[in-house]
Amino acid sequence: MKKKRGEIIAMTKLSVLLVAVIVLGTVLVLYSSQEGHAGVAMNVDPTGAPLRWEQNTTVTFNPERGALKSAGGFDNAKSVELVRKAFQVWTSVSGVNLSSKQGAFLDDGGDVNASNFQNFIYQGIAGCYTDILGLSPQEAGPCWSPVIFDSDGSIIESLFGSCNQFSIRAVTKMDHVNDMSGDPERRKVRRSTMIINGACIAPISNKSGCGGCSREISEEELYDTIVHEVGHFLGLGHSQVNPDAYDRCKSSGCSDADKEALPTMFPSSISSADYSTLLEDDKAYMRRLYANASNQYCSVSGTVLDRDGVTEVAAVEVVAIDSNSSSGWIAGLSGGESPQNNQGVCSGNCGAFLLTGLQEGRTYQICAQPINSAFKGISSIANKSQSVVDFPRTCPESMKITCQCSGGSCETHSGFNITIGQGATTYDTSEPSSSSASGSGGSSGGGGGGCSLSLP
Ligand SMILES: [Zn+2]
Repeated sequence: MKKKRGEIIAMTKLSVLLVAVIVLGTVLVLYSSQEGHAGVAMNVDPTGAPLRWEQNTTVTFNPERGALKSAGGFDNAKSVELVRKAFQVWTSVSGVNLSSKQGAFLDDGGDVNASNFQNFIYQGIAGCYTDILGLSPQEAGPCWSPVIFDSDGSIIESLFGSCNQFSIRAVTKMDHVNDMSGDPERRKVRRSTMIINGACIAPISNKSGCGGCSREISEEELYDTIVHEVGHFLGLGHSQVNPDAYDRCKSSGCSDADKEALPTMFPSSISSADYSTLLEDDKAYMRRLYANASNQYCSVSGTVLDRDGVTEVAAVEVVAIDSNSSSGWIAGLSGGESPQNNQGVCSGNCGAFLLTGLQEGRTYQICAQPINSAFKGISSIANKSQSVVDFPRTCPESMKITCQCSGGSCETHSGFNITIGQGATTYDTSEPSSSSASGSGGSSGGGGGGCSLSLP
């Protein structure tokens, strides 16, 4: 069947538009400075397969020409250097078949700001899919993965509303050209977009009528944020792993062990924690997406069941606790890679979980734990319309395993069914209809997936 060129262009425009809407609706991830799934994909396709870049490729990011905050010492070169280093943190994980490089600067006339950002975040997608869309490079334009430095937060404000530049720290989204045809090639990620907000970097930006920044962001914290965002850029979602450490940090202060127990992809920020160093949980999921790790690491799979021992329960975090190392815990989410309906809600095998990356010779206790109530409503841990249950952490005595490997293959432990404890209650994580970023963990524009980062 041959189509006329005009039809092809019109269809392409429509699909690009759809992508933009889909992106804002479901793939958006916010990192907010007012309040704040590794074990979990940032997004999955209807079959539950994680969205990701192709293995063995080079992820090219395209920085803008402007600065994150020149007056604070973050000129363009320094800003780009932080991003480049953050990519290396992820691509240097052993076994990962992915590299990254800085590509051409955006053709932005010197700066991306509130007046021209739409040229970069909504466009430049078709150019990454010329083969699939049947377009010539001239028709499709360039393929860009923009990295935008929003020095005073005015782009964030344009996207999410007045004053949100003082609470949303960064935004990252992955793009694809899915048209609901079921073609998996259309869902391969070939471009992502990152916007880093400089409003709370010294000298902090102000706007009358807004509360301003809750505090100034240090260079370390800025770098932590960028490493976290690059995780999203590559397809990782949020992971709690050790919510108790977070609770202690918020109430009585972080011990050094607590700081080391929080993964880079934790959904909320603790200023004193070091998120730029990946934990085993971060590495395990990076390897799940981009490595062939089954010959070096063990895995555990099973199903989370409700009190009746039959009903599968989604959105429960299952964690392999290494009693010798608080930084060695590895988590996954029930239903995190299960089939989904059009609303992004699990539609089958909803209690299924899979943990990968367990290390040879180590002993783990497998536990089920609820998503911390501070993170309910954060659709990147549990999907936006997904209910989440609350229950006491459940660690069946029988579910203790030691990872053993021999002859180039490691054990696969399957059939681990965990019946969660008494007192399970369901609460609703549907996000508020408001598109403003609130301080209470709700938030995120477009009513779609996202996270709101709290600062204790
Ligand atoms: Zn995040």
